Amino acid sequence: MKITAIRISQHRYKFDPPFHASWDTRPRTHWDATIVRVETDQGVTGIGSGDLMVGFAGHEELFIGQDPMAIERHYRILANINFHYGRCWPLDLALWDLAGKITGQPCWKLLGGLSNKVRAYASSGTLRKPEQLAEVAQHFLAQGFTAMKIRFHRGDWRQDIAALAAVRKAVGDRLTLMVDCNQGWRMPWDTAQPWSLKDALQVAKPLEELEVFWMEEPLHRADYDGMAQLRQMTRVRIAGGEMTRELHEFRNLIQRGSLDVLQPDVALVGGITGLRRVGQMALEHNLVFTPHTWTNGIGVVANAHLTAGATGAPFLEFPYDPPEWGLDRRDYMLAEPVDAKDGWFTLTEKPGLGIELDEDRLKATKIG
Ligand SMILES: [Mg+2]
Repeated sequence: MKITAIRISQHRYKFDPPFHASWDTRPRTHWDATIVRVETDQGVTGIGSGDLMVGFAGHEELFIGQDPMAIERHYRILANINFHYGRCWPLDLALWDLAGKITGQPCWKLLGGLSNKVRAYASSGTLRKPEQLAEVAQHFLAQGFTAMKIRFHRGDWRQDIAALAAVRKAVGDRLTLMVDCNQGWRMPWDTAQPWSLKDALQVAKPLEELEVFWMEEPLHRADYDGMAQLRQMTRVRIAGGEMTRELHEFRNLIQRGSLDVLQPDVALVGGITGLRRVGQMALEHNLVFTPHTWTNGIGVVANAHLTAGATGAPFLEFPYDPPEWGLDRRDYMLAEPVDAKDGWFTLTEKPGLGIELDEDRLKATKIG
């Protein structure tokens, strides 16, 4: 079998009302999706999505005519493109989907078959008043979730703690709570400075008292020593790495003792092929590997296949904060949204990633 074409299309789904993501100072009025299709001479097509594939144009010939199953070879080419141009990892996802369809196996089995299930945590995305956030937490509980991630970014961290405390008071110990400080990186238009170690330590103290499971991105992604020190100073787990671009940086983060929880995302960093290695590295060091998944349902399910099949994790991110971030918005490109019923990702026996595109919706939202 040979790869005959790689087709990339861009789509935009408009929102009204907008989504105020806690980590973005600009309200979001649309959600763009890049769909990557890898076609073969046998009529089988693999599908991927995630990043915008910036810098891929002109490199198609490096894949056309090749055996689609040579995934390690393709990964090396993508790593080179990542270095010289942009992040084109959705193609790796499409190749894994294709490999599953060629062999008639779901990706979670090809990746090790450890399990077809991983527990989900409800990952909220917008900043709400304490009493409203407590209500949302109760809805998550009623839907079967046992864990929830809360966003910090209200300007004064004491207000963030008040929102967290309201949730803890409402749900007691029935929900495991994580906190995302979002200090690791900024949007292009945001010039705010990240926290210092002392800033983060001040926040970590009340998180300990409120029994927070992990504190995510408390410091800039390059502050390896700060994270390592913070990790020693608090019993809250320190999480990070969602936008760290190079695999060797994870090796360094592990060696420097910076993180308890590693969170790279297959749709943004390294693809499934690269992060399979990071996941194993994390296990060898007795660390938690649980990918960031804040893209669309294709990225969510790809991370679920890797985590369930190869490493296992206490919880995996389920981006979900309706109505601003419901499945209708997140997964508009899919015939069936990727759900976490009763608080679990449950993967099927369908070959590949097990997803189907909504072609009519894709036609209606096509912008390129
Ligand atoms: Mg995060």
